[in-house]
Amino acid sequence: MEYMYRKNIHQLIENNKQAYTDISDAIWNFAESRFQEVESSKVQQEYLKSRGFSVKADLSGEATAFIAEWGNGKPIIAYVGEFDALSALQQEADKTERSPIPEKVNGHGCGHHLLGTGSLAAADTLKTYMEEHGLTGTVRYYGCPAEENAGGKAYLVRDGYFNDCDVAMSWHPHTTNKVTGADRFLANFRVFFTFHGISSHAAGAPELGRSALDAVEIMDIGVNFMREHMIEGARIHGAITNTGGIAPNVIPAEAQVLYAIRAPKITHVKSLFDRMCDIAKGAALMTGTTVTIRQVSAYSNVVHNETMGKIMNEHLQAFVPMGYTEEELAYAAKFKEVITDLDKDGLKNMIAQLGDKEQREEMHKMAMLDFVLDRRSMIGGGGSTDVGDVSWVTPVGQANVNCFAAGTALHSWQAVAQGKSSIAHKGMLTAAKVLACTGVELLLKPELLAQVRQDWIDELGGEVYPNPLPKDLKPEIW
Ligand SMILES: [Zn+2]
Repeated sequence: MEYMYRKNIHQLIENNKQAYTDISDAIWNFAESRFQEVESSKVQQEYLKSRGFSVKADLSGEATAFIAEWGNGKPIIAYVGEFDALSALQQEADKTERSPIPEKVNGHGCGHHLLGTGSLAAADTLKTYMEEHGLTGTVRYYGCPAEENAGGKAYLVRDGYFNDCDVAMSWHPHTTNKVTGADRFLANFRVFFTFHGISSHAAGAPELGRSALDAVEIMDIGVNFMREHMIEGARIHGAITNTGGIAPNVIPAEAQVLYAIRAPKITHVKSLFDRMCDIAKGAALMTGTTVTIRQVSAYSNVVHNETMGKIMNEHLQAFVPMGYTEEELAYAAKFKEVITDLDKDGLKNMIAQLGDKEQREEMHKMAMLDFVLDRRSMIGGGGSTDVGDVSWVTPVGQANVNCFAAGTALHSWQAVAQGKSSIAHKGMLTAAKVLACTGVELLLKPELLAQVRQDWIDELGGEVYPNPLPKDLKPEIW
């Protein structure tokens, strides 16, 4: 009975599920955004302390970051969690129409309350299993702030907190069940380009002014021309964050543009960024202004690990289908009705890539996609994750686990509304089981752990983490 431990893990998590759903619901209620996750961090730290973990908090200038640890020596199995909410997404739970909560700003549109709690549950359960079975090693839970818009993990990776891990695991709430394999996560820099000119009367003394807004516009034109000469898969998008004022008769003395620069590999992003710095300097020269360049975050691409993919996929297949009650399916069906028409199209397009005609007809009727997708299939892509940075310094395994009605878009009020439902909890507990079982298997089979490391070395092909954050950059809310 090689997989007896699956039953064991399943039972341990079921026995403790009230505690996990309570933590997840509490984080949903706190709905704290990047670097402000004070209560969300505290509730997890307190729980893990009560379970015998030691906790060190406030890491890399991130007050809400923490590492909870139990055990001794090698191997070190790490679970990675997130718990930040998104702004402007406040929404009453379970409501199928837009119902913002008046006194709230943020909402858990990406399901990070489930993500963090599911990873915490996996760490907690692996620890109990190790105690009960006399296994040696160390279990860690990394409480990582600000995944959204700040890449909180990249700071922790830069400062070496993941260096001694043997493996790290994470998961993401989703509308499908799928181990993350060939999926595309783009590496990503966020950079402010601020131009400084000279203000003057635009009609009375234009020759005395130098327009910072002109420089922003010229820079944008330069970037548009550069787009023709970028590698396939690169993406650059910008927002003018300071136009220099609203008075046409005043020459703007300061103007600013924020760019997201994305490409398949972090090394590609670095080279595009260098070229954009030249464009900015050119724009400054042409307009007689000066420019300051301030990078504020970076996300690296994910280094794939084939062995982790295989192990996690087996465990995922053991726990899926999850099986939903009639009530749960009716709940999901209501939400499937109220997703946007674009999301309905997105669901159709995804299903079009799957199975045969009969299976596809079945899938169109499903309110919950309660099956495991082929881990080699490409679904979506183009986003970024700071788990990528972790994967450059230690082997990483990840999975998407179904927590929402079919077709629900992440970062939407519809996702927020479903975040405290039993379908969301079920997905979170399933993810915890998959992650904990993978941990047990790696502890029981050192040869597998060695294979995981070898895959990682092979995949890197001699490349080392390019450390995309400037050494002295501090996490900030911008
Ligand atoms: Zn997310």
